[in-house]
Amino acid sequence: MSDCIFCKIINGEIPSKKILENDQFLAFHDINPVTKVHALIIPKNHVANIAHLTEDNASYVDGLLPFVRDVAKELGISADGYRLVLNTGAKAGQTVFHLHAHLLGGQELGWPEA
Ligand code: 5GP
Ligand code: ZN
Repeated sequence: MSDCIFCKIINGEIPSKKILENDQFLAFHDINPVTKVHALIIPKNHVANIAHLTEDNASYVDGLLPFVRDVAKELGISADGYRLVLNTGAKAGQTVFHLHAHLLGGQELGWPEA
């Protein structure tokens, strides 16, 4: 998607602070962190959000959770705990319509609000 900022981060048109990547996913630091550690994890193939997953593109997110596990280890927050958030749709606060998981940690997290 030519006008998608996360696709531009994937292809290097927009710089990012990368944490980890593999063939399928990229993890980088959020530009406006809401917790001490705030990473974004995105599939390299564009899909807008969970609601847009179909039989044809659902494989784009295969392996997401093991990748999240590895990112959390890389960031050193694995033992203490962290939270994964996927805002899906405008009413849920999604502002970038390229599926992404927020990995939040590095501090005590309240529930239901951070
Ligand atoms: P959403 O609100 O869609 O769930 O989350 C979008 C996230 O992307 C926000 O937390 C926002 O700070 C982050 N973000 C938006 N533009 C950029 C950017 O150009 N670089 C980085 N690293 N993060 C961005
Ligand atoms: Zn995209």
